[in-house]
Amino acid sequence: MIQRKIPNDELNTFYQSKFEYYRKVAALAAIATGLLEVFYFISDCIIFGRFANETLIPRISIMVPILLFVLINPKVKDYKCGSLLYYMMPHCAMWATIWAIWFLPNRDFAREGFIIMHFGFLCVGLAMPVRYHIVMHAFLFLNIIVSNLFIHYEHFDMMIALAFPLYIGVILIMMILENSYADHYLIKKEIEKNSVTDPLTEVFNRNKLEEIVSADGEKLEVGHIKDASILMVDIDKFKRVNDTYGHEGGDKILVFVSDQIKKHIRSTDLIIRWGGEEFVVLLMGTALDVGLNIAEHIRSAVEAAENDVTPVTISVGVSKYEGGNYHDAINKADQALYYAKEHGRNLVVCYEDIEDEILRNS
Ligand code: GH3
Ligand code: MG
Ligand code: MG
Repeated sequence: MIQRKIPNDELNTFYQSKFEYYRKVAALAAIATGLLEVFYFISDCIIFGRFANETLIPRISIMVPILLFVLINPKVKDYKCGSLLYYMMPHCAMWATIWAIWFLPNRDFAREGFIIMHFGFLCVGLAMPVRYHIVMHAFLFLNIIVSNLFIHYEHFDMMIALAFPLYIGVILIMMILENSYADHYLIKKEIEKNSVTDPLTEVFNRNKLEEIVSADGEKLEVGHIKDASILMVDIDKFKRVNDTYGHEGGDKILVFVSDQIKKHIRSTDLIIRWGGEEFVVLLMGTALDVGLNIAEHIRSAVEAAENDVTPVTISVGVSKYEGGNYHDAINKADQALYYAKEHGRNLVVCYEDIEDEILRNS
């Protein structure tokens, strides 16, 4: 079941993902809002009944913030800075409008002009957090109230009376949109997580490899870490568990073993359910001796810990991955695991320790 609410610690990631997608839309809306200002010079000429020299400079002044905007926008990578930058445009357009209105012989149309500004704010705000919009759009009122001190709009009361429900309406629209973005975001995350997670043990499945292996399918990389100790873990005599305690008992043992492994690794390490009851553990950036130590801890923990089905043991093959083809390193861990099975099980075997023997016998 998808929750509608995004956890607080994930909000930034959510807005950032939204910002990446919509940044072009918000930027275009911001520029369009600015350019509209220039077009209102035509209606100024109609009001004056002649070429409106007086408002030419105020109307064209919007080009300065637009140029500034175009220069800064490509450098913005963060939705917080982006949001403020995009809201700067309708605010600049607002003040260019106020400047032009100062010269108009008939200020009746200021009312309509400001309603158009609300539309501009709506368009620009589409890719922003609603809470930013609530504040930035409220500044629009402040602009109107402050400018009224020296312009004295004839229909000031009417402007506020029209603008307020519009403000509420715009915020409601944005809340609905944000909820729908949130739904999509959560569903997408859920699908992404499920596609790389084994539902029984909740460790990764093999699909995770696509995320951490280079495009040529050879190199492993998790973040900036490019080397690892590789553990191949297999439960000993697992068929017997299934035969004696049923598939359900077997499943419980699988969960038990994966839980024991989870207890011994860091958040940067990965556990992948490789096959039926085999797990590959990638201890990222971990030296071989440390990897062996961890493997031994996991093995002894599985042997010592109690579970509610039956005592089990594991065998572990360990190898070192130092870049290059990761299949080779997995193969080596597998050979070490095979060696552990051949030599009594419940063992940790390092490939390097048996390499000579294996090469001699091949
Ligand atoms: P060994 O010590 O040599 O590893 O012996 P083993 O019996 O564990 O042999 P093997 O590794 O070949 O056993 C794999 C068994 O795992 C066979 C299959 O029935 C069982 N298995 C595979 N996937 C699942 C699963 O999802 N749940 C359960 N309960 N059993 C599974
Ligand atoms: Mg087994
Ligand atoms: Mg097996």
